[in-house]
Amino acid sequence: MRTAIVVGAGIAGLATAGSLARTGWKVTLLERDDRVRPGRGAFVLWPNGVHALRALGLADGLDGIATPVPPSGIRRPNGQWLIQPGRTRMATGERPLIVHREDLHDAFIAGLGDQVDLRSGTTIRTARPRADRPAVSDGKTIFEADLVVAADGAHSAIRPRLVPESVFVTAGYAAWRAFIPGYRVPKLPADIPASGETLGGGHRFVHTLLGERGAAAGGTSRAGIAWVATAPGALRPEPPQMQLSLLRRWFAGWPAPTGDLLAATEPDDLVQDDVGELRPIPPSLAFTNPTGGYVLVGDAGHAMTHYLDQGACLALEDAATLHQTVRDAIPGRTLSQAIEDYSRLRRPRVVKVAARSRRIGSVLLGSSAGGLGLRARNVAMGRFLPRLLDRAAAEAVDWTPPSG
Ligand SMILES: Cc1cc2nc3c(=O)[nH]c(=O)nc-3n(C[C@H](O)[C@H](O)[C@H](O)COP(=O)(O)OP(=O)(O)OC[C@H]3O[C@@H](n4cnc5c(N)ncnc54)[C@H](O)[C@@H]3O)c2cc1C
Repeated sequence: MRTAIVVGAGIAGLATAGSLARTGWKVTLLERDDRVRPGRGAFVLWPNGVHALRALGLADGLDGIATPVPPSGIRRPNGQWLIQPGRTRMATGERPLIVHREDLHDAFIAGLGDQVDLRSGTTIRTARPRADRPAVSDGKTIFEADLVVAADGAHSAIRPRLVPESVFVTAGYAAWRAFIPGYRVPKLPADIPASGETLGGGHRFVHTLLGERGAAAGGTSRAGIAWVATAPGALRPEPPQMQLSLLRRWFAGWPAPTGDLLAATEPDDLVQDDVGELRPIPPSLAFTNPTGGYVLVGDAGHAMTHYLDQGACLALEDAATLHQTVRDAIPGRTLSQAIEDYSRLRRPRVVKVAARSRRIGSVLLGSSAGGLGLRARNVAMGRFLPRLLDRAAAEAVDWTPPSG
């Protein structure tokens, strides 16, 4: 029986482990945390992510858990519209969806079936790329298989063994995300958009309604409002309560519902992330050896900034592509060939989306490394932003699963 080890049970690892198991692989899934749990907050799933979910056979319950992202615009902190609602990113036809991370996680766990040997509390520290068989170790046990899938995120422990020159580089911003469940969502006036973005002086605040407006539970089991705030600087070391106070101060006076949402947020709702990307994206996402080899999926292979909301969608594309390329491969030359095909199909795509996301970030927020200044940025906004966003969104969603 063909064997695979998947390291990391985030969205990339869960999607990959389930899809391999469903095509007859014996899969061991190794996760550092004591329990496999979803991240907090919500994901925007662009049509490419939905197509990938379909290709993986995981989209059946999507209608019940996801809601279309309401048309949104972009404002300045003084309330003036930079881009009126509906003029950006929705121009690509199919609307993006928003889904609670826990709902998506439940679908992935169901998709693992009972074939995957899941071992939580296992932190992988090394890989042996030069051995005859792919292998990883937590310092106590060596796990060997025909195929090792590194799905251990932006700060992967496996990637440095395979491609040491690719490192996570910060963009000079930190991001916070939170999800306010329906029963705690403040009552908002009817003229407040259900989804929107405000930009000013390197700061950004985006909110999106999940489920029916004003309802604790609309068509989904977990309705509420998700928001993401971005601010210049490094990760904040203070406890969540103090981070929340800082956010309330930085975004004070911004157009509604920013203040209402920050007031309704509790410290436990907050998740802080360093904004950055992998540089360079590895020259190959596959590393072969006589029986098969290693592949990088998700953020382990192509961590990127969050400005296009594409990281998880691309992780799903990775899983769907790997599913297709290794489906009929047998250990040895055909498996090595299959994982090289995976890299050939994925790398140009992720390089392109990462570059677009970087560019959008430098226009939206300015770049700490000699990017556009505030004045120039404002001029660029009015003239170029709608076109730039539309083109970036159109390019990012332009993906179809490889055919068998
Ligand atoms: C603010 C923000 C908003 C975002 N919004 C969106 C969005 O709306 N839509 C979208 O598509 N993308 C979005 N993204 C991107 C998305 O969150 C990531 O791209 C995605 O979660 C990456 O998934 P992953 O499985 O590759 O990595 P991770 O989610 O990082 O999972 C890695 C897993 O590996 C485990 N692990 C790590 N190291 C080890 C080890 N040594 N041994 C064993 N296990 C290990 C971890 O515990 C974790 O479970 C956003 C990102 C940010 C920062």
